Amino acid sequence: MARTKQFKAESKKLLDMMINSIYTHKEIFLRELISNASDAVDKLYFLSLTDSSVGKSREDFKIRLSVDKAERTITIEDNGIGMSGDELEANLGTIAKSGSFSFKQENEKQDDIDIIGQFGVGFYSAFMVSKKVVVESRRFGEDTAHRWESEGADGYRIEECEKSETGTKITLYIKDSTDEESYDEYLDQYRISSIVKKYSDFIRYPIVMDWTGSRRKEGEENQWEEYTEEKTLNSMIPMWKKDKKELSKEDYSTFYHDQFHDYNEPLKEIHYKVEGNATYNALLYIPEKAPHNYYGKDFEKGLQLYSSGVLIMDKCSDLLPDYFGFVKGLVDSEDLSLNISRELLQHDRQLKIIAANIEKKIKNELVKTMKDNREGYEKFFRSFGLGLKFGIYNAFGTNRDVLEDLLMFVSSNGKKLTTLAEYVDRCPENQENIYYACGETADKIDMLPQTELAKEKGFEILYMTEPVDEFLAQILSEYKGKKFVNISGEDFDLSTEDEKSALNTLNEENKGMFDAMKEALGEKVAAVRFTQKLRNHPVCLVSEGDISIEMQKVLNSLPNSQGVQAKLALEINKDHPIAEKLKSLCESDKDMLAKYSEILYAQARLIEGLPIENPTELTDLICEVMVK
Ligand code: ADP
Repeated sequence: MARTKQFKAESKKLLDMMINSIYTHKEIFLRELISNASDAVDKLYFLSLTDSSVGKSREDFKIRLSVDKAERTITIEDNGIGMSGDELEANLGTIAKSGSFSFKQENEKQDDIDIIGQFGVGFYSAFMVSKKVVVESRRFGEDTAHRWESEGADGYRIEECEKSETGTKITLYIKDSTDEESYDEYLDQYRISSIVKKYSDFIRYPIVMDWTGSRRKEGEENQWEEYTEEKTLNSMIPMWKKDKKELSKEDYSTFYHDQFHDYNEPLKEIHYKVEGNATYNALLYIPEKAPHNYYGKDFEKGLQLYSSGVLIMDKCSDLLPDYFGFVKGLVDSEDLSLNISRELLQHDRQLKIIAANIEKKIKNELVKTMKDNREGYEKFFRSFGLGLKFGIYNAFGTNRDVLEDLLMFVSSNGKKLTTLAEYVDRCPENQENIYYACGETADKIDMLPQTELAKEKGFEILYMTEPVDEFLAQILSEYKGKKFVNISGEDFDLSTEDEKSALNTLNEENKGMFDAMKEALGEKVAAVRFTQKLRNHPVCLVSEGDISIEMQKVLNSLPNSQGVQAKLALEINKDHPIAEKLKSLCESDKDMLAKYSEILYAQARLIEGLPIENPTELTDLICEVMVK
């Protein structure tokens, strides 16, 4: 026996919002239900391509609307995939639109109206115009059908029912008109036909309705007769085949939400047509925000692929390189055969040409966006930049030509995002390098002693705060003839030849002291020496060789890390009072010199954000020296 079940809390909230909505474009309920129907038909149609037991060909698929004025009902019926009892429960008892709903919660004070208008809210929007909704559905491959029924607030019931054909039939019991609002219009065939035209014209399956009209009786001058005949309400001309001039910003954005299930506005749409080597229409969208799984294993890139208006693949991944995997959209080409298999498609020459074209187009549009809509591009980059960087890194730089101009880094010039080209443009003529520093955050990098010096010399620094950044800098190695130089590396030396030789002499003179310090520190450092790179800070660590300190951190955080060690030198500020202190200890108290070495080394590690191996030992040591 069926009993009434309660909606999940979130669903109930949304439902209440629908029932009491004062939204003025309630007509969109039809768009939502038709779009669900079309998705369901798509699913069965796809199946029919590989499973002959579906027993239908493309022409058989339809969406049927009917109106019963006396009963005050509209039905929307499709012969798509259908839903089982469990699916009815899962899909209609619980809200699926978590995207729009969390948006709503964040903006509680805003009107419902915005979210309904911008995003649509799926199936529940039926309750804006209905006092009761009945869904009868039979899933493909199942013998039993189920009926879901709800009057909104009180919950819903599910029970078995009779239904001869696979698919879903939704019956809306239209609300009674009140003084404030009339719902009768939704029972009018002209009104329904115009709503379908407005929102669902491009739906790929015929949306049919029994149309009642009157016509002159054959052979009779002045006699009219009523007739009823099936009429197709939509033109089925796909949106992307329409002229750009006919389409509004809103058309593009509605299509984006409906088709690609992103509730955010896209950053940009790219709608174009190519004729020649390959002939195709493309409608692509660059999202502004990454979906939550974009960087996860389960993310699937790809564009919808159509052959002369007929969908042949939902996610054709060969059309997009991984680093442009965020692009959503579709390609429609007459050059592709309808029945081409996935395997053959991969080797299709046309498809390769199209893919290459698309890559170029996306790149150009991104460059253009960077110029025309800087703010939007920066938002985009914050979401997708990491993917672009990995694009270069993963291919060992072979596709740098496509990607390097799209990169951005935060720079010490105003702590804003900058491109490499902008950095180079700002460089003084005699600056040969692009300086960068690595660390967890820009603020932490600012605290590095080396940063102080670089800034003092007037160099702009790029803050590389993502683990991949430093590897990227090494792979790129240079940009427009300027070398990437890490200010924490041994290459970063700004002193003059005279200064260098003076420092060498000083280090030679104190060789005995440094040997003693090195001995105290053992394997931890490769060398100890004076430096003139530091201003106020007493010490720093410098990496020698290919592996830097930041890389060591990244590599050691990987699952199978081999305990990589950067080769480190401990450098001491030659002008800091500690230098004199060390020299005198070297004369008077070698034991204390060893302890100082330990402490200075630990300080340098702390500055670099490296862990201290034995913190208690260290604090004991510091105290021991303090009480001396
Ligand atoms: P959305 O369409 O965004 O997922 P809805 O609330 O409109 O959200 O629908 C919830 C789910 O119910 C759909 O994802 C789909 O699985 C199922 N559904 C809705 N209408 C139909 C239908 N006509 N045929 C089959 N399944 C449907």
